[in-house]
Amino acid sequence: VLEINDIKKGFKDGEVLKGVSLNVGEGEVLSVIGPSGSGKSTLLRCATMLEDIDEGEIKYAGETFASVQHGQKNYINSKQLKKANSIFGLVFQNYNLFPHMNVLENIMDAPVRVQKKKKNEAREEALSLLEKMGLSGRENSYPYMLSGGQCQRVAIARALALKPKLLFFDEPTSALDPELTMEVLKVIKSLAKLDIAMVIVTHEMEFARNVSNRIIFMDEGVIVEEGSPEQVFNSRNTRMKNFLGRYI
Ligand code: ATP
Ligand code: MG
Repeated sequence: VLEINDIKKGFKDGEVLKGVSLNVGEGEVLSVIGPSGSGKSTLLRCATMLEDIDEGEIKYAGETFASVQHGQKNYINSKQLKKANSIFGLVFQNYNLFPHMNVLENIMDAPVRVQKKKKNEAREEALSLLEKMGLSGRENSYPYMLSGGQCQRVAIARALALKPKLLFFDEPTSALDPELTMEVLKVIKSLAKLDIAMVIVTHEMEFARNVSNRIIFMDEGVIVEEGSPEQVFNSRNTRMKNFLGRYI
């Protein structure tokens, strides 16, 4: 689904991604772990083209969507960007639901407005997604009436409504209490069975170990360790061991 080749990205204060490559296969669940400031969010923002890259290449389903070789940039056009946006979805830490829309409207908005889906059809699908998220009966609630965990599950339903092949999560539970965290993690875990590929940035080590086919450990803008949960959590790499030590 996704192929990232040797991307680099810097800001005024220096290089944040120093040559990162990764592949995500269909239905694969990949977790990205690493210390604060190591470049995890930047990687996601570049992969989803919210941020331009300085160097490297990003492909979805074999098609190049961003390519910068030796400073020579090939930006994608808006038609391609629209296509890219139908391939992947994004769920952030602070769910950014539309506050003036109820749950159903939040989920139906993009399918109706962007994908030109019929309202009835979009409504049916939204209701079915809400059921999967354990939120049946909440369709008329407004975001302020819901708990953080419920909001996050609505945000996941909203992303799923566009039928992505790949979902990116950036610390989906870091704004939540432990109890609410569990319900959101449970929902994400249930998605793993639906054949949607996922890239999950998380500080929840137990969860990463449980849900992932593969784990990437990033530090200072490079991938230090990559492999099965078993391999990565038993790594002898000093930086990896120091990082894990903070969670025990
Ligand atoms: P965390 O676990 O705390 O979320 P992270 O691994 O997601 O950390 P990033 O958010 O990718 O880290 O940030 C990596 C570095 O890039 C940080 O030093 C940050 O200050 C810098 N950075 C990120 N975005 C920008 C930006 N838009 N402008 C300037 N610097 C930025
Ligand atoms: Mg981050």
